[in-house]
Amino acid sequence: PKTAYVRTKPHLNIGTMGHVDHGKTTLTAAITKVLAERGGSGTRYVPFGRIDRAPEEAARGITINIAHVEYETDTRHYAHVDMPGHADYVKNMITGAAQLDGAILVVSALDGVMPQTSEHVLLARQVGVDHIVVALNKADSGDEELTDLVELEVRELLSAHGYGGDSTPVVRVSGLGALQGDPRWTASVEALLDAVDTYVPMPERYVDAPFLLPVENVLTITGRGTVVTGAVERGTVRVGDRVEVLGADTATVVTGLETFGKPMSQAQAGDNVALLLRGVPRGAVRRGHVVAAPGSVTPRGRFTARVYLLPAGQGGRSTPITTGYRPQFHIRTADVVGDVDLGELGVARPGDTVTMAVELGRDMPLEAGLGFAIREGGRTVGAGTVTGTG
Ligand code: GDP
Ligand code: MG
Repeated sequence: PKTAYVRTKPHLNIGTMGHVDHGKTTLTAAITKVLAERGGSGTRYVPFGRIDRAPEEAARGITINIAHVEYETDTRHYAHVDMPGHADYVKNMITGAAQLDGAILVVSALDGVMPQTSEHVLLARQVGVDHIVVALNKADSGDEELTDLVELEVRELLSAHGYGGDSTPVVRVSGLGALQGDPRWTASVEALLDAVDTYVPMPERYVDAPFLLPVENVLTITGRGTVVTGAVERGTVRVGDRVEVLGADTATVVTGLETFGKPMSQAQAGDNVALLLRGVPRGAVRRGHVVAAPGSVTPRGRFTARVYLLPAGQGGRSTPITTGYRPQFHIRTADVVGDVDLGELGVARPGDTVTMAVELGRDMPLEAGLGFAIREGGRTVGAGTVTGTG
């Protein structure tokens, strides 16, 4: 029998973000190694290859574009997400990033701020990630003067996006060095974790609100039924609770609950969980659907929003948009087409922040304050916040 999950420490969701090849996955593996070797904690070492390829889930034929690892410091339990490619970040981190309580921005001391570094910071801001800690990685091979310059550059980038770059912890680390067991770099990863423990505050959890979980992945377990995974956005759910699946238009009962393979009797806002749903046919539930307390949300197709259109220099469009523009909207874990109406404005340029009305291709739970990304041809061209629904 599996050991049940025991909630002994506050739980937070964090993740690595940053430009490709700056060392996010290496650092993620190094964090688990350093904490596992500290001993006495609930951390198991997760090697690089397991994070980058997530072999178990790949074997089940699921498209995996997000890897979760868990670890514990002396004071907290963390679920940590790492993603292989930039497109995965934009899709998962951004829309799922509403769930991130804090982020570790990985910047290579050799390369400095690169386009994806800026884009991740921008989008993190947009979806309400309020605290970023910087890992200035590859400090083993950078020269100090260059590293000083990169640090300045990162602090400026953070300040430009309202993160208070002067007060942000910037820790010089070597994920690779720590993985190789070099004491100096092991200590650097410890210092990074201390910064995360102290700088990222415990967020307010809406455990008393009606339960809501955006579906990230779906798996079918022969003989047991359909399992959906995701992070609980708000509320609490227990085994035996009735829920509805918005998008699949079905009502069901939660017959099992797990977190990181450990059964639990109750999951709450902020937890990363798998829910076993009774009698839901294979294929009925998909990523992007929402599991919620019955009657607690009304799906809607129309909303108004404030949207920042990324300039071309940040990966955005080079030409204006007009009323009738039909991009993809990434809302929570969903990816849905929408018709844009710019009202009297009629036209908006990259770099502008505008108000727009949107008519989505399908209804979904929407509420003021919800963050989303606008994508087109595989790249992010805008980031917005819902201001009203109708
Ligand atoms: P990701 O794309 O951000 O996940 O980057 P990876 O973790 O896959 O690392 C990209 C490359 O940088 C790999 O060849 C790593 O071995 C190398 N790398 C990662 N961390 C360090 C480090 O701290 N020092 C050095 N010298 N190389 C590193
Ligand atoms: Mg990686």
